[in-house]
Amino acid sequence: MYAQNPVFIPGPTNIPDPIRKACDIPTLDHRSPAFARLFQPAVAGVRRVLGMAEGEVILLPSTGTGGWEAAITNTLSPGDTVLAARHGMFSHRWIDLCQRHGLNVEILETPWGEGVPLQRIEAALRADPGGQIKAVLATHNETATGVRSDIGGLRRALDAAKHPALLLVDGVSSIGSMPFDMAAWGVDIAVAGSQKGFMLPAGLAILGVSPKALATMQTATLLRTFFDFRDMLKSYAAGGYPYTPAVGLIAGLARAVEMLEDEGLDAVYARHHRLAEGVRRAVAAWGMRPCAAAPVLFSDTVTAVLVPDGCNGTDLVKLAAEKYGVAFGVGLGEVAGKVFRIGHLGMLSDVMVLSGLATAEMCMADLGWPIKLGSGVAAAQEYYRGSTGALAIAAE
Ligand SMILES: *Cc1c(COP(=O)(O)O)cnc(C)c1O
Repeated sequence: MYAQNPVFIPGPTNIPDPIRKACDIPTLDHRSPAFARLFQPAVAGVRRVLGMAEGEVILLPSTGTGGWEAAITNTLSPGDTVLAARHGMFSHRWIDLCQRHGLNVEILETPWGEGVPLQRIEAALRADPGGQIKAVLATHNETATGVRSDIGGLRRALDAAKHPALLLVDGVSSIGSMPFDMAAWGVDIAVAGSQKGFMLPAGLAILGVSPKALATMQTATLLRTFFDFRDMLKSYAAGGYPYTPAVGLIAGLARAVEMLEDEGLDAVYARHHRLAEGVRRAVAAWGMRPCAAAPVLFSDTVTAVLVPDGCNGTDLVKLAAEKYGVAFGVGLGEVAGKVFRIGHLGMLSDVMVLSGLATAEMCMADLGWPIKLGSGVAAAQEYYRGSTGALAIAAE
């Protein structure tokens, strides 16, 4: 039998049919006015989703990882110091990428499950009156642990320390699903990818770049060619692109923003919160808890579930894929085996999430874990019945 179950990984996410169709366009000359007509709404839409008041949107044929690389190589020079907390696999990978580019990373080791440590960041910045630290890097939503950090609070820490460092933020698994306000938070570069909140296939790195970051690009000497914002902006000014763009994805991006805005960004964020809260009720009913150390840190896009002693989260993920054809996320790095992850972002409804919770329960029962079938599902059902959410089932 042919069946297509939703995925419950925190990216790539389920692709809505309208977006799939929007990506499917005939070959188009990217030097023609037709490309500009397609490109401009995508850029304008991203600007609104990121909450940008000024600066530029850069769309690169790449993924989130390429977005990290573009963010640092366009603003920094070899030997520059950057400050970053390591509290999960994604913050770790960005740090590793910086080190491989010859940057000096001042690492604040932070327990996995905690957020960006604002007080320690502020103290490190106060201890740097000469301004050696050129950038603070932060992972808004640590996808490995399901932890959301306070980027507005991070901006206040920089301001309190009166430090001029750039603020570079990885919003790959938050942007388009949880509130993000580049202008209010004074973010200098925000990095997103097409395959998470934007519900597209992988293939685009999506960046918002502030005027301050654009100014540093003139003096930054880290090597870059494919990712050089200067080439990109020169071509943009002429209505084009320095090389062949991913035209289908850009068409899909415009459609994705339209879908997010048709629902309403606030409604999108409220839906993600509701979906996440239902998952958390289920986790509690199983007698388990999220890896995120405190409720203020709970991510609305992914929950890393700490599994009982003697159980292995990776076993559940393997079984779900093999026996039921459903994808969950494995634990990564320090929390490998200790958690499994439920992605709840992008095109998902209450009913879809309930199917994922039911599948997870079947796997737990199969593996002999100490849970009662239906317990988590029932807790989520009670929550979804009682919480109001505008239901938008597309008929396209
Ligand atoms: C998925 C993800 C990335 C990496 O993005 P790719 O598109 O896989 O390169 C980076 N950061 C976070 C927080 C992510 O969730």
